[in-house]
Amino acid sequence: PPARLGLIGLGKMGLPMGRRLVASGFAVRGFDPLEEARAAFAEAGGTACGSAAEAAAGAEAVVTMLPNGEVVRRAVLEGADAVAGAMRPGAILIEMSSSAPLSTRALGERLAALGIGLVDAPVSGGVRKAEAGTLSIMLGGAGPALARIRPVLEAMGSALFETGPLGSAHAMKALNNYVSAAGLIAACEAVQVGAAFGLDPVVMTDILNVSTGRNNATENKLKPFVLPETYDSGFGLALMTKDVGIAVELAEALGHPAPFSHAVAAFARSALARLGPEADHTAVDRYLKLLAAP
Ligand code: NAD
Repeated sequence: PPARLGLIGLGKMGLPMGRRLVASGFAVRGFDPLEEARAAFAEAGGTACGSAAEAAAGAEAVVTMLPNGEVVRRAVLEGADAVAGAMRPGAILIEMSSSAPLSTRALGERLAALGIGLVDAPVSGGVRKAEAGTLSIMLGGAGPALARIRPVLEAMGSALFETGPLGSAHAMKALNNYVSAAGLIAACEAVQVGAAFGLDPVVMTDILNVSTGRNNATENKLKPFVLPETYDSGFGLALMTKDVGIAVELAEALGHPAPFSHAVAAFARSALARLGPEADHTAVDRYLKLLAAP
């Protein structure tokens, strides 16, 4: 297994994932432009670096956990601090952000020309599972390299699903998050309409959870984040909007009408415009309330 890892992006997910890697015995060099993120990473036993290239230098594998594929592309390929410039031929980039599958394939071609491997390995489970090291990891394009990177993935996740060639895991992740977003919006809407009719939101949640309307939002988001209106799950509305947008773009690229995904994407964009870039994705509930009583 690789002894030395780079980790680019020490945000809500990257930081706890980095903690798990350090706890599993890897020497991890990390970079994030935010000073607080680097300080927290150093406190966890990682080596905080002054640039992405410094974090990647000499690593057998580099993990990226950045906002989106465009940020990944720039960090990996562009400028004097480019990650790819610092990686040695034969090393592998493990792209764990939720990125667009077609961009991932293009990045793979660029890296292959440099002798650097690429796998897409997006995760599901959120901040809590990142902290526990129990993420679900979808994996595309690994082939025989899986044996080499498996210990790295197992430090962060407890379930691994190989989805096919490069980009397939990013496609799977975007489609999952589209379904998840649709389920959340529907759940919030239904509970608000029910409450307006006089139903108790807690009773509604309990009934949904043993009925056919049950989904991840009814089970894991209504009581912790939506009903108390704390809206602090740790997954940003901007990221959810980005993910649904990737699903829509994928459908469009394939010539598939997928009309409901367009409706969900338009709703997410409006909510994001109204609530701002710092809002949590569970705050779609607040947006629905603003629509009902502006
Ligand atoms: P985040 O915004 O908290 O973290 C992203 C980090 O990347 C930030 O700390 C930012 O400073 C850093 N960054 C930006 N540009 C950089 C660069 N050039 N070099 C190094 N660091 C840079 O986001 P997050 O919640 O950690 O999500 C990361 C990815 O994981 C996203 O693609 C998201 O969709 C996905 N994801 C998030 C969750 C979740 O629950 N938060 C769950 C599954 C997947």
